[in-house]
Amino acid sequence: MKLCRFNGDRLGLVEGDQVLDVTAALDVLPPVRWPVPLGDPLVKHLDSLVAAVQRVRGTAKRLPLSAVLLNSPLTNPSKVMAAPANYRLHVEQDTKDAGVDQGVHRKALEGVERPTETYGLFLKATSAIVGPAEGVQVILPERRTDHEVELAVVIGKPGHSISRAEAMNHVAGYCIGMDMTVRGAEDRSFRKSPDSYTVLGPWLVTADEVPDPHALTLSLWVNGQRRQHSSTGAMTVDIPDLIAIASSMYTLHPGDVILTGTPEGVGPVLPGDVVRVACEPLGEMTFNVSAHG
Ligand code: MN
Repeated sequence: MKLCRFNGDRLGLVEGDQVLDVTAALDVLPPVRWPVPLGDPLVKHLDSLVAAVQRVRGTAKRLPLSAVLLNSPLTNPSKVMAAPANYRLHVEQDTKDAGVDQGVHRKALEGVERPTETYGLFLKATSAIVGPAEGVQVILPERRTDHEVELAVVIGKPGHSISRAEAMNHVAGYCIGMDMTVRGAEDRSFRKSPDSYTVLGPWLVTADEVPDPHALTLSLWVNGQRRQHSSTGAMTVDIPDLIAIASSMYTLHPGDVILTGTPEGVGPVLPGDVVRVACEPLGEMTFNVSAHG
């Protein structure tokens, strides 16, 4: 099932080039009251929500996808985790660019076979999340902001110390994730957390529709020119290991996101640019880059 959030507070079921407005299905989510539990309610109650979507589907209003504004399908993940340097060609090729390397990364990654095992994951502030409708606002015009297209894994079942063998049972689904990045020497979590620097979309695809998440083609175009194009099979530390590493340190909650690293071809974006990303069967989305404020 493909579930989107559109026009701010509408829940959509995506079928082909149409969106079915299944907002009525949200009635199955329990009312929220202080203290609000950690996690994304949509994902926490995904099983009952999917059943409710099936019930209201027949009477749902249909809209063309092109006529709606797509927001992030996730609204309240407790954390967004991300893998550093998780594609070999990204490390080998992109760190030759001094603007990416910053005199730091190439040296730090020399001789490191599996960077996520050595350096762990980093966190991106959840306040950085937007959907394609909002787009990216470049925060510091005098610094480089780069695109990094990634497969985003959405955690469903909570857990700590999850084994590699059990890991995939904790996945609710997938979407495309943009790990937008200010280049520089500061800590990754600082440079990668400005508002709008995590674009999630175009919708959440439940795990049953993605039989092999390590065999997806990720592509990104800036103003029609293709910059990134790779298979998720090229990731260095795979999804089960990323989940094991993440959960060895902290409890994973429903709706938590793991960005699995970017393939080669990262580069700068500027206000006015239009970015398109695609990943079958996750769909594709286009967003605008503008200046902050
Ligand atoms: Mn990244």
